[in-house]
Order: sequence, then C-alpha cells, then structure tokens
Amino acid sequence: MLIDAHCHLDFPDFDADREAVLARARAAGVGHFVVPGTTRRRWPEVLALGERDEVSVCLGLHPYFMGDHREGDVEALAAALDRHPEAVAVGECGIDARFDDTLDAQWSLFDAQVRLAKARGLPLVIHCVRANDRLAKRLRQLAPEAGGLIHAFAGSPQQAKAFLDLGFVVGLGGALTHERAKRLQRAVTALPDDGYVLETDSPDMPLAGHQGERNEPARVSEVCRKVAELRGQPPERVAADSTANARRLFGLPQGDKREDDSGVNGSTAD
Ligand SMILES: [Zn+2]
Repeated sequence: MLIDAHCHLDFPDFDADREAVLARARAAGVGHFVVPGTTRRRWPEVLALGERDEVSVCLGLHPYFMGDHREGDVEALAAALDRHPEAVAVGECGIDARFDDTLDAQWSLFDAQVRLAKARGLPLVIHCVRANDRLAKRLRQLAPEAGGLIHAFAGSPQQAKAFLDLGFVVGLGGALTHERAKRLQRAVTALPDDGYVLETDSPDMPLAGHQGERNEPARVSEVCRKVAELRGQPPERVAADSTANARRLFGLPQGDKREDDSGVNGSTAD
C-alpha cells in the first residue's frame, strides 16, 4: 500500500468529485492520505475529512496564506490541537521566501508553531520555498524533538542531509519527475531508505506530462515508480519503505479498514 503523505483533499478543487478521486487513488494502490491544515477557516473541513479511516489530519497556519491569518489564530491553533488529539502533526507551516513582504510575519508564525509542536511532542509539516538553509538553521536553534516532514522537498543532496540530521524526512512528489530537476534527482538517489515519504501536494504540483492539470493522490504511484527508477530499487521496495516511514513519522496505525475493503493485504505485508 502507498500513502499520500501530503494532499489537500479538503480544497474546493475536489468538492465536485472527491469520492471519485479517492476511488481512483485506491485503485492505484494509495490507501491512506495525510491532509494538512492551511488556515483557521478551513480546519473544520480538514477535521471532517479526518473522520474517515483512511485520512489523517494536521492543523496549522500556512505561510502562503498570510493574508488570511488573523490576530489570535495561534491561540486558536493551540486550543484546536488540545481539542483534537487525532491531529498527527502541526502544519502546514513554514517559510515561502517568494513573498518577501510578509517574511518577518512568516518567521514569527513559524516559530510559534514549532513551539506548539514541541510542547505537545508532535511532528511538524513544513512548507519551505527558497529558504532551505535558513530554515534548517532555525530548526537547529528551536530543536523540535519529534522531527517532521519537509514537504515537496526540492533542494540539494546537502540540504536533504541537513534536514535528515535534524530528525526530519523529506517529501518527494511531482517536482522530481521533471526532466530539468537534476539536482533534486541527485538528492533522491542519495537519500537513505528511511529518509523520505511520497506525496502529491494535490491539487498542486502536477507531474511531468500533466502540467496544467489538477493533481490527485492516485499519482503517488507514478512518483513511486520514478523514485524507484532514480534509486535503482524495485517499486515494491520504495512503496514499503515510504509507507513505513510515513507510519513512523505520523504514528499511523499499521492497517485500517480501508486496506481490508480494497483487498490489499497491507497490514501483514509490511
Ligand atoms: Zn501543501
């Protein structure tokens, strides 16, 4: 079984055909989904999805949506995390250095979320664009013990190693399928077997050959094939390793009802 370790299934992009999207994912062998939080207003949608056996959720304040965050949102996040122990991580939080004008506010929001995760022993789900070195340095200072996921990792082998040394894993998705992503592909080749998970970031981050299309969790199977090719390992091995890594990181159960329903013998196969 494959796990999509990062997908925004709560987004309105999926409102018209969410069940069909999930059915296609299951048919492609993707049996579990981790859905991160983005804004306070969207947490209820995320939590509602989390009532499904095959979905795990995170709660956080995403740096891409700085304009949506309000005074008091960090306190609300603390309260929501206390009310919802089913949340498996704090996130999606992080730094998006494309948005220079909000960078100071992004850093204070990030620090606050690292502290919330640290106080609760939860891992972090981190969005990091054009800030890998600065973010690794900040994590070294704040030292969150439960690690986390550097989602949609697109850096160098050295940057991947810096995150792994901090107890994080990197999320591999559509970016590595693009022909020009040579540096990232070298990083993928050099990763240890326990250093990565697979993800789509649906509806964003389309794979090569699917530009301009809505991305969806079924495509984790394509990511898996490409990672296997780059690493010179059988796809079954990449599937087993990435699934074990996601389960370890997020504390996911070894099997769920969905696996039995779909006839995939995941609970005993790994
Ligand atoms: Zn995301």
